[in-house]
Amino acid sequence: MSVSFDQRVANFCAGPASMPTAVLQKAQAELLNWQGSGMSVMEMSHRSSEFMGIASKAEQDLRKLMNIPDNYKVLFLQGGASLQFSAIPLNLLKGEADYLDTGIWSKKAISEAKRYEQAGLGKINVVASAKDSNYTTVPPRDSWQLNDNADYFHYCPNETINGLAMFDVPAVNVPIVADMSSCILSSPIDVSKFGLIYAGAQKNIGPAGLTLVIVRDDLIGHANLVCPSILDYKNQADNDSMVNTPATFAWYLAGLVFEWLLEQGGVEAIYQQNLLKAQKLYEFIDQSDFYQNPVNKDNRSIMNVPFTLADSQLDKTFLAKADEAGLLNLKGHRTVGGMRASIYNAIDLATVEKLIKFMQQFEQTSV
Ligand SMILES: *Cc1c(COP(=O)(O)O)cnc(C)c1O
Repeated sequence: MSVSFDQRVANFCAGPASMPTAVLQKAQAELLNWQGSGMSVMEMSHRSSEFMGIASKAEQDLRKLMNIPDNYKVLFLQGGASLQFSAIPLNLLKGEADYLDTGIWSKKAISEAKRYEQAGLGKINVVASAKDSNYTTVPPRDSWQLNDNADYFHYCPNETINGLAMFDVPAVNVPIVADMSSCILSSPIDVSKFGLIYAGAQKNIGPAGLTLVIVRDDLIGHANLVCPSILDYKNQADNDSMVNTPATFAWYLAGLVFEWLLEQGGVEAIYQQNLLKAQKLYEFIDQSDFYQNPVNKDNRSIMNVPFTLADSQLDKTFLAKADEAGLLNLKGHRTVGGMRASIYNAIDLATVEKLIKFMQQFEQTSV
């Protein structure tokens, strides 16, 4: 049975998320017999010259897309962004570390790091929290209780659940560690401003099971003795991310997404597209009395757009009708309620316009 383009729904899931159809088609065409090898990438040894080629091409393309300087290593790991919540203190914490709390994912990173504080590895400071605004605005920079001797400063530039984003890299004097799980490759960034960038793949890169870590050389090689060797950045860097069997198929698919992004014109081109998508959706929400987004305008995510309906009793009907219209996974996270449209790179402008049109019609029939 072959599945055509128009049988594919608009999938606004926060993660695992929509993938470019062209990428899936390429993977489908190569599934049984990758480039004459007579086997699927899934079946290849990670040490084979074929897979090593796939792996290094993916890294080169990512370096090109993000303009990653030579003094950074790119690691293709497993365990999700959540395992990095532990790997980061285990590799970098010597004395103290600063964390900014802007939402649910920052909080998870903090609570994981606090375990190492309890274990006596160092101290974890929360420099400021967006809690007072119910996570709708980032506390002003001059209110942060920063520590100039911190080993690193951790923050999450795009809070996937709260839809709260920070577009400027914070001016701090210590290495910056950023959880970019839901915003990597969505807009151009200056990698040299960061000490370490990490991201689970399943939002804007590829399938679940792969985690990217981009880390500056001087931050590698300082792991705590209790750090599992598989989480030690030096060990992974020295072994080309193959200390054990990597997520080979996910790595390959990530590579196809990087090729696709280059074909789209790279990160700057996709960013222009992303801006337009987000702008249209927020504009529509703002002009309506029926839909609402509570986030401070300067901090609105261009990837994850939460919104509520004027009457939450209509939520169920909204979701059912959206499903019927082929617009899936719009239910908001249980902690925030309402709806959320995740509009990552693979969601095009036409799909966002379709969502807006649906929202418009739903409003008209409901008021
Ligand atoms: C999804 C997400 C995570 C968790 O990722 P896993 O790969 O499931 O561990 C962490 N941080 C952010 C910002 C996310 O969006």
